[in-house]
Amino acid sequence: MQESNKHHSYFNCHICQKSTAKQIKKNWKFKKSISSDHNLIKKNFIIGICENCGSVVKDISSEWQKETNLIYENFSMYTSSGGNEKTIFNHDTKKQTPRSEFILSSLKDKFDLTSKLKILDIGAGNGVFLKSASTILPFASLYAQDISNIFQKEVELITNFKKFFQGSLDHIKDKFDLIAMIHVLEHIENPIMFLKNVKKLLSLNGMLLLNVPNSKLIPIDLCVFDHCTHFDIYTLTKLLNRADWKIEFISDSLINGEIVALLKPGVSRVGIKNSQNFLLNNLNYLDSMVDAAINLRKNKEINIFGSSLASIWLAGQLSDWAGCYVDEDENKNNTKINGRSVLKPSSLPNDSNVFIPLEKNIAKDISKRLSTSVINYYFVN
Ligand SMILES: [Zn+2]
Repeated sequence: MQESNKHHSYFNCHICQKSTAKQIKKNWKFKKSISSDHNLIKKNFIIGICENCGSVVKDISSEWQKETNLIYENFSMYTSSGGNEKTIFNHDTKKQTPRSEFILSSLKDKFDLTSKLKILDIGAGNGVFLKSASTILPFASLYAQDISNIFQKEVELITNFKKFFQGSLDHIKDKFDLIAMIHVLEHIENPIMFLKNVKKLLSLNGMLLLNVPNSKLIPIDLCVFDHCTHFDIYTLTKLLNRADWKIEFISDSLINGEIVALLKPGVSRVGIKNSQNFLLNNLNYLDSMVDAAINLRKNKEINIFGSSLASIWLAGQLSDWAGCYVDEDENKNNTKINGRSVLKPSSLPNDSNVFIPLEKNIAKDISKRLSTSVINYYFVN
């Protein structure tokens, strides 16, 4: 198979299980990619769009699998934020709220809050979703599944926690009223089969809660090595239809840059608009970001704003980078990432240049807020 495929640019789409994914024709100039736990990876990958299902997918080659297994074996959860989940500003409470808590409280009307729900979190990690569930759904009993047991002890401390399942879903004999997959589906190598297996674990009237990155709005998601599917709301809807899940709720605006869906087993052939091709646009955007950073360095070494995926990835594209990360989050100040310091904006020496590797509108706000007569901020226009 591999020999004959060399002559054309198609590879296997892991959703369709057919050689229908067309490799993007573009000179790949990124030096490194990044793992979902924020480590730079020297290996690159093949990416394209499936002509059958429209999804943006990576080639799940044996090399990809080997590297991905290494990532999972050494996985560190939310390293850059001390084990905490990303927070979302809640306009009702005017507070920063952990993502899972925000999702659960936004969808609260959909659950029977007084009943003793049995909740399973698939790919539970260090239990951030279950911690939120124990707050928002205090009568629920909580179960976790993960391929690794690194965080089992931490998860077992959560209020109302019952049982930790390590390994594949096949070992689980219980049924659950709510199953959560928070930032899991984009890692799954056979998502249709996986979603069918999840259905076997649901009780009558049970529901599945899904949360994935919205790759359309987050260009850097393409460079996350262990993410093999890059969804927008249309390709996710199509996949859910094919796996026979009925959509009770789906939104790409509840959380900016993410898609949240609540599902029940069933068939709903809702009309699906075709996904707009965001792959090329987003790769071009990342290219211009790297070019801009390289150009700016010709005069003087740059510092990079932020300490998240995009910032660490950008640093990985620059040869012998000797700048600092610049972060407003005080918890991150005076730490180091890959040997480079994380400084607060006010600690920068005069005449520093700071590059913001974020989308134009967000970058513009940051630049407006932080620019001074002695510190210059730059971003891709
Ligand atoms: Zn496909």
